[in-house]
Amino acid sequence: MVKSLSELKGYQIVGRHSAVKTCLWLKKSLKDEGFCYKQKFYGISSHRCLQMSPALICNLSCVHCWRPLDLMPPFLEWDDPEFIFEESIKAQHRLLSGFHGTDGVNRKKLKEAYHPNQVAISLIGEPTIYPRIEELVDVYNRNGFTTFLVTNGTNPEAIERVEPYQLYLSITAWDEESHKRLQGNKLWKRVERTIEIFSEKECRRVIRLTLMRDINMKPEKFVWIVKKAKPDFVEAKAYMHLGHSRLKLERSAMPEHEEVRDFAEELAKLTGYRISDESRVSRVVLLEG
Ligand code: SF4
Repeated sequence: MVKSLSELKGYQIVGRHSAVKTCLWLKKSLKDEGFCYKQKFYGISSHRCLQMSPALICNLSCVHCWRPLDLMPPFLEWDDPEFIFEESIKAQHRLLSGFHGTDGVNRKKLKEAYHPNQVAISLIGEPTIYPRIEELVDVYNRNGFTTFLVTNGTNPEAIERVEPYQLYLSITAWDEESHKRLQGNKLWKRVERTIEIFSEKECRRVIRLTLMRDINMKPEKFVWIVKKAKPDFVEAKAYMHLGHSRLKLERSAMPEHEEVRDFAEELAKLTGYRISDESRVSRVVLLEG
């Protein structure tokens, strides 16, 4: 069990409550060994993606969460958005410096990686807990980044304020009971409110369904959410048996790509969405409205 921030392997801690980490796909892309499904689906460049979180804390305790929780040291003030932005770039540079001696790295891509143009605000914890999340997103927007913000939906007030390039609502449950059972808190009413306002957001909107075999792979349960939230895309994605989730779930909860596809086909039939892409290696199927 990771007990403190200093034990988090591969993370660069930024200020008092933020962190940056290069993701697996950035590393693979630098070596020309593949790229993230988001490059395939949405056209971002994996090697220029900065993965960060402005709040190493979460208000849920999902069974499928791979992140270690309860990491936040006590602190009295939140850092400024400009500070987090600037320090996150420096942190990315420190992480990239480790690739100079690595065999097989594409030098041109490594040079480009020093100028990230995409931020995935989704690394660990719930980013909307940072009270100035909309300002942080704006700083990245103003500096030419495409901003992907992933939320668990428990902070509808922040969702109303924030204007990322692409907003993800990550969903695992479909009602109060399943939310309590799978995500460990009584905040479903707040998620429902986010589902209601989701369709009014002007940015590109995505619902990500994290699918666990024999637990929530029931397409009919999610139909009302898709119809109400009216996302541009739905990502049906397999749960991955990684990190801390292994303490709560068996490996058998991780569905095969074919099962995810079956789920997506059924959901497409029930909602009128159509399957527009898929990534076998990431076990994810994209539906488009
Ligand atoms: S909302 Fe995200 S960070 Fe929080 S417990 Fe669930 S999966 Fe983990």
